[in-house]
Amino acid sequence: MKTSPAKKLAKLHNRFEPLAPERVAEILRILERSYPSVRCALHHESAWQLLVATILSAQCTDVRVNLVTPALFKKYPTPASLAKLEPEALEPLVRTTGFFRNKAKNIVGAARKIMQQFDGAVPEQMDDLLSLPGVARKTANVVLGSWFGRGEGIVVDTHVHRISRRLELTRSDNPKHIELDLMRIIPQVKWIDFSHQIIHHGRALCVARGPKCAECPLESRCHAADKTWSTVEQHKGAKGKKG
Ligand code: SF4
Repeated sequence: MKTSPAKKLAKLHNRFEPLAPERVAEILRILERSYPSVRCALHHESAWQLLVATILSAQCTDVRVNLVTPALFKKYPTPASLAKLEPEALEPLVRTTGFFRNKAKNIVGAARKIMQQFDGAVPEQMDDLLSLPGVARKTANVVLGSWFGRGEGIVVDTHVHRISRRLELTRSDNPKHIELDLMRIIPQVKWIDFSHQIIHHGRALCVARGPKCAECPLESRCHAADKTWSTVEQHKGAKGKKG
């Protein structure tokens, strides 16, 4: 049976637009209401400490990093104290965070570069941060946003990656492209808070396996294919992180 023109038009008007400004604004409002004052979970008291903690957090939980950093910062409080070390001397202190040889090498390398080129202070510019060993956009965005209060990009960690795909704010599986997709649709003043809120949401409810959709404040706006409970149509293409 043929669909009438009116039905076709209605279908067209009801078409789901995942990037519609009003939908994105509503998602941001719900996140703000649900997680009004969430901040970076990595314990730190300086830009340097936050940089080190973020390097250590790759493939590791923030809880584990927070267990490791007090002894590390007590023994080596500044870039100057770490720049003198050989990375091997740092390895025992960071071993439990995984990939510890690489992390120790990057932390000592970053300390040396900061001493040699940035007068001992963590730089505040994205390009300068990206020139440090072990620092890619995610780490640079964490330091710029959470310490310097500069929203120059959006932190795309595993939670932001997964949830942005479930909410259909991106179709990409590549963190660089995901960040660009998010920067196009989210107002810049929200970039810092959005990452914190989504990361918190990913830990609390929208976990990788078995998300707690029945408790989720975004449930009626989320069409993810891997929802565990749904009041709305689920979309095959809306899935969390691949792999
Ligand atoms: S409804 Fe489920 S899948 Fe969607 S954002 Fe909430 S917890 Fe995540």
